Amino acid sequence: RAKAEGRGRWRFFEPEMDARMQLRRALEIDLRRALAMGEFELFYQPIVDVASRRVSGLEALIRWRHPERGLVPPDAFIPLAEEIGLIVPLGEWVLAEACRKAATWPGTPKVAVNLSPAQFASRGLVDAVTSALELSGLTPARLELEITETVMLQDTEATLATLHRLKALGVRVAMDDFGTGYSSLSYLQRFPFDKVKIDRSFIRGLEQSRQSDAIVGAVTDLCLGLDMTTTAEGVETEAQFEALHRKGCREAQGYLFSKPRPAGEIPNLLKQLDRAARLEPEGA
Ligand code: C2E
Ligand code: MG
Ligand code: MG
Ligand code: MG
Repeated sequence: RAKAEGRGRWRFFEPEMDARMQLRRALEIDLRRALAMGEFELFYQPIVDVASRRVSGLEALIRWRHPERGLVPPDAFIPLAEEIGLIVPLGEWVLAEACRKAATWPGTPKVAVNLSPAQFASRGLVDAVTSALELSGLTPARLELEITETVMLQDTEATLATLHRLKALGVRVAMDDFGTGYSSLSYLQRFPFDKVKIDRSFIRGLEQSRQSDAIVGAVTDLCLGLDMTTTAEGVETEAQFEALHRKGCREAQGYLFSKPRPAGEIPNLLKQLDRAARLEPEGA
């Protein structure tokens, strides 16, 4: 049926569709090659405890070190990797690599790994997390998995079961980009999240728009009442940080502290941030 329906339209749009499909196909082949060649790399961005300004965690963020295109950001290839199913092996690599690196940074706080919806729904997810922990020797409580609201729209019973299995391993789960998707307060009640990450779009308006202030304050209070931690994403200014402090937001992440950095720079970055935190008078 789809074939018969598609035939006429295909003929009509052929040249344009063809060019787009060819580009997509080329990127797909390139992505598979890159995974085999080991061209992906993880950068890490510190997450800071608001009260003490100490680093409490690192978020692993993937990059593609392309031989011709240079450093390619995730938004340019994660959606396609997700569509063609390559996100499953790629995501397994991310999990293993992030745990392995975090285990070599002793005394370092948690490491957060992003899971895409297709990866979350894949059958091997819990096994992949288990083996990443076992192979690296990382304490499960030091691993945090970030999922977006989209996951909640899928089969809710299956999602709930997966979340419980992950939590049984001792890892933590966070809801990423809160407030941007089809946010529903019932998700916070039904799903056992340890943490909610408030999307950057609300942080940008802090101290500038009453609406953003109200939303960030309300989400922080709500999460406190539900025994969930809150992290503010995209904190770029001291004024935003101070506003978060006053509202009782627990953690902050953003360019104010550091951009995501290559793994090799992390030990020094951690020392540097720790020194800065100790110099900063408490509550200033
Ligand atoms: P995310 O998980 O919400 O990650 C936060 C994004 O905000 C990162 O972009 C980070 O570089 C950026 N960011 C952090 N602080 C600031 C700030 O102060 N200002 C601004 N303007 N931006 C800030 P990045 O690294 O480009 O990643 C984009 C998205 O790609 C991530 O959003 C996540 O959804 C996805 N992603 C990254 N790595 C992975 C991965 O390993 N697996 C999967 N499935 N998705 C990933
Ligand atoms: Mg994230
Ligand atoms: Mg986010
Ligand atoms: Mg995001």
